[in-house]
Amino acid sequence: MAVRVANLKGRVSVVLGARLVDVERTSGGRFSADPMAAVQRWDALVEWARGLRDGDAEGPLDEVDLGPPVPRPAKVFAVGLNYREHAHEAGLELPKSPMIFTKFPSCLVGPRATVVLSSAYVDWEVELVVVVGRRGHRILAARAFEHVAGYTIGQDVSDRRLQFGDKPPQFSLGKSIDTFGPIGPAVVTLDAFPDPNDLALGCDVSGEAMQAARTSDMIFAVPELIAYLSSLCTLEPGDLVFTGTPSGVGSTRNPRRYLVEGDEIVSRIEHIGTMVNRCVAHRAES
Ligand code: ZN
Repeated sequence: MAVRVANLKGRVSVVLGARLVDVERTSGGRFSADPMAAVQRWDALVEWARGLRDGDAEGPLDEVDLGPPVPRPAKVFAVGLNYREHAHEAGLELPKSPMIFTKFPSCLVGPRATVVLSSAYVDWEVELVVVVGRRGHRILAARAFEHVAGYTIGQDVSDRRLQFGDKPPQFSLGKSIDTFGPIGPAVVTLDAFPDPNDLALGCDVSGEAMQAARTSDMIFAVPELIAYLSSLCTLEPGDLVFTGTPSGVGSTRNPRRYLVEGDEIVSRIEHIGTMVNRCVAHRAES
């Protein structure tokens, strides 16, 4: 059975149906409450969690209380133009190698967090996020999934004015503004997915369907991304890979559509769940 690991107010919790198990208390201190410690001992934690029963659950799951399941990763990679259809809508040729940028970990927030709009040009990007579970360098694509703790949902919120306002464009800062990295609701182990290379994902904004695709449209699939990244950087438990967004972002729509105060971004990936993030306008501090 798949294991779902969430962050309830800073404490590692396992999701059992509609209820939660506090890992530190229920394990009698065998596992720490710290979500970053959980990913360091992922295999042992998952094995322990598989033995949990309904009676171990302490409280109902209210997703409003969830933080980012991996709150302080050492690295957050993200991939630009990784869906064929999205590359076409952007009018760009398919990249020959993955186009990698970073999101600074300080932008990560929970699956129900508010997104604070930095300008009138903020856009949505639903993405499958890979959570690294085992250290590795020069990982072979054929063995890549052995290094994956699980998947979660991410929103690569992007300020297009910062991203494309000058030449050449700069990706990292415009995608790292505070609150621009909602992830969650939980890290889900790979046995939840009939095919970990083919998941339906989508994004609605205030009730309007904006993105709907399958991860099988990726130009570089998860195993290739892991192989490529680990050929350059040692991957550590907790590192995240935002794997790119499919077509349907606001900046390529006609007419263009950006996020405004009050918009609700709903991001979903099958077998993982849903995130709901409401947008508020940035207000200058007095
Ligand atoms: Zn993206």
